[in-house]
Amino acid sequence: MKKLIRGLLDFQRHTLPSYRATFARLAKGQCPDCLFISCSDSRVVPNLLVSTDPGDLFTVRNVGNLVPPARPGGQPSADRGEAAAIEFSLGFLPIEDVVVCGHSSCGAMKAILAGGAVDGAPNLEQWLAHGAPSIKKLRENTSRVGEGLPDADRLSQLNVLEQLEHLKTYPIVRDRLAAGTLRLHGWWFDIGAAQVHAYRDDLGRFVPIDEAEGDRLLTSLTN
Ligand code: ZN
Repeated sequence: MKKLIRGLLDFQRHTLPSYRATFARLAKGQCPDCLFISCSDSRVVPNLLVSTDPGDLFTVRNVGNLVPPARPGGQPSADRGEAAAIEFSLGFLPIEDVVVCGHSSCGAMKAILAGGAVDGAPNLEQWLAHGAPSIKKLRENTSRVGEGLPDADRLSQLNVLEQLEHLKTYPIVRDRLAAGTLRLHGWWFDIGAAQVHAYRDDLGRFVPIDEAEGDRLLTSLTN
């Protein structure tokens, strides 16, 4: 906690002056154009990875970057927190893109891989059940996604794609996709290499967002 207090004081002394105007503008409201769903893991820092400022990202973070699927009526199957964030951000903010970002060495994926039982943590155990379809896909081994990676990392990449499918169970997501006003993106952060990868539908695998891939993505977004 001392690191936080010292960091806060450092922010107030050195960083805040250059952000005064930004915060004064944001006091009137937020208008982020991206919903970013990632793991709560301390090593995944969305704003750092994509160099965003306050007001740029509407962020949902939870253990394993999981999205409980909605039932046919649009009701979530379990926790309402993620569903509420999806409805609020897509319904009341100018969100155009949703990123689900998994990561390497994810504790949630390791727990799911180990069977999902977590002694003394019944809520965590129940929550991790949302990863069941992902472990099923890993076991079926019908996808080439994550080939060559350790099982937990391969599961993590499959899980990103599974959560994108869960997103599509929400009426507001389906409607926006049908209207062509929303894009979904699957990302995966390799912590050791500090490299973010993006899922390429045409290749059926994740590729590093290097200079060439970044240019390709930027071009695709402007078309
Ligand atoms: Zn994680």
